[in-house]
Amino acid sequence: MALIQLNDVSKSYQVGQISQPALRNVSVDIETGGLVTFVGPSGSGKTTLLNLIGCMDRPSSGRITVDGKRVDNLGRKASAAFRGAHLGFIFQSFNLLPVLTVYENVEYPLLMIRRAPADQRQERVLRILEAVDMAGQKDKLPDQISGGQKQRVAVARALVTQPKVILADEPTANLDTETAKKIIALMREMRDAFGTTFVFSTHDPRIVEQADVVHTIVDGRLVSDSDFALHKSSGGADHA
Ligand code: ADP
Ligand code: MG
Repeated sequence: MALIQLNDVSKSYQVGQISQPALRNVSVDIETGGLVTFVGPSGSGKTTLLNLIGCMDRPSSGRITVDGKRVDNLGRKASAAFRGAHLGFIFQSFNLLPVLTVYENVEYPLLMIRRAPADQRQERVLRILEAVDMAGQKDKLPDQISGGQKQRVAVARALVTQPKVILADEPTANLDTETAKKIIALMREMRDAFGTTFVFSTHDPRIVEQADVVHTIVDGRLVSDSDFALHKSSGGADHA
């Protein structure tokens, strides 16, 4: 079974008397260990789709399974618990807490959801900060580091609880192209190191190239799929 499955998922937003369709009959499987992107123009439904996978919202119809659990019908509390235990999030605007240091920002999710003993917590935070090459900046405040560095910290923060899936809605939109590519490369490294599946959206074709699997979404519909040499051990050499 795929790590994430969407079966015939539709979502409409009710705006006054009008029902505004945002996703139309989307079915897609996302396998473990991919770097998977949803690409499409503004307003095509990317955020809606990621919000549904991330249990931030519920579909109007259809079925969504994440890591073996039906999530399309979860209530508020259950979806919050599921998010905390299974998912990590990276945001376009980084969303670091400005009064906390780099170290404290990464520690924060562990304080919120896990009762790891202090020494284990410290070890885990430092290990993740080293993995994203930010250990040397651990005592700085977000204001004292660059945008690219902030997003590295945000990647670390998403990873620290060891979720199977990290969702990122346009994580590179506030970065220049070179920095953006480095963030995607970092996701790939972290995927290899921790087995995390990354699902992100973008509308930047230069970023799309960096993904393993690209799903194109236009006007709420999935229009085409193309597999870019999944790093998985299907045995075949990569000729492309
Ligand atoms: P994208 O992330 O690709 O830009 P969105 O998922 O944000 O697309 O939006 C898809 C469609 O749904 C758009 O037409 C948008 O205007 C509409 N939409 C998104 N969120 C809401 C909302 N909360 N209420 C009403 N309409 C919304
Ligand atoms: Mg969006």
